[in-house]
Amino acid sequence: MSESRTAIITGGSQGIGKAIALDLASRGVRVVVASLNPGKAEATALEIREKSPESIGVQADVSNAESVNAMVDLVFERFGRVDYLVNNAGITRDTLLMRMEDEAWKAVLETNLTGTYLCSKAVVRLMVKQKFGRIVNISSVVGVMGNAGQTNYAASKAGIIGFSKSLAREVASRGITVNAVAPGFIQTAMTDVLPEKVRENLTSMIPAGRLGTPEDVAAAVRFLLSDSASYITGQVIHVNGGMYM
Ligand code: NAD
Repeated sequence: MSESRTAIITGGSQGIGKAIALDLASRGVRVVVASLNPGKAEATALEIREKSPESIGVQADVSNAESVNAMVDLVFERFGRVDYLVNNAGITRDTLLMRMEDEAWKAVLETNLTGTYLCSKAVVRLMVKQKFGRIVNISSVVGVMGNAGQTNYAASKAGIIGFSKSLAREVASRGITVNAVAPGFIQTAMTDVLPEKVRENLTSMIPAGRLGTPEDVAAAVRFLLSDSASYITGQVIHVNGGMYM
C-alpha cells in the first residue's frame, strides 16, 4: 500500500465503509469519505485525519450522476489523481416481491447498482490516464445465494458481480483491476435492525459461529487494493465465515 495514493470510499462515514476508510488511513492513504450526509462525512474525515492528515469528507449521492461527477472533480482538483475507488454505499428496502412497491425496487437498484456504475465511470477515465487504478465493489453473499424478502437487494448485488467482471475485462490491460468483495452477515447498522430471532437463526448458518465485523471486510478490501494483488482481477472474494463456499 503506497502512501501517496488517494482513495474514494462511498458511504464511508459509518459501518463497513468507515472501517475501510480507517484501515486505509492508518496505512497513510489519503482518504475521501464520500457520504450522503455532509456532516457525517466531515465528522468521519476528522477522525481519519488523525491517521492521514490530508483526508477529506465530501457530500455525494451515488445515485445522482451530477453529484458523483462533482465529487470526483473536486477530488481530482485537490489531489490530482484517484488511485482507489471502493463502491461501498448501499441500502436495503426489504419485503416480499408480492408486496414490493416499485419505488423500493428502483431505490435499491439506483443506489447499489447504478451508484456503482456512475462512480466507476467517473473515475475510470482518470485511472486509464494514470495507467493505474483499483476498483473494489461491495457485493453481498445475498447476491450469490439469494434471500427471501430481498429480491431488489439480491438483484443489485448480483448485478455488481457481473458489472465488476465485465469492467475488469475492459481495463485489465491498462493497469486497472476491478474486483468484488461479498460480505456475509456483518455487524453494522444494516444488520442491527434485524430481530434477535432472525440474527440467532443467521448465526446458526455461519460455520464460524459469529457475525463478521466491518474490520473483517476491510482486510479483504485492503488486500485487493494493495500492490500484492496486481494480478487479481474480475474476482469475488467472499468474507462470510464459511456461510457460502
Ligand atoms: P450502513 O447502512 O451502515 O452504511 C451504508 C452507507 O451508505 C451509509 O453511510 C449511507 O449513508 C451510505 N449511502 C446510502 N445511500 C447512499 C447514496 N445514495 N449516496 C451515498 N451514500 C449512500 O451499511 P453497511 O452494513 O456498512 O453496508 C456497507 C455496504 O456493505 C453496503 O453496500 C451493503 O449492502 C454491504 N453489505 C453489508 C452487509 C452487512 O451485513 N452489513 C452484508 C453484505 C453486504
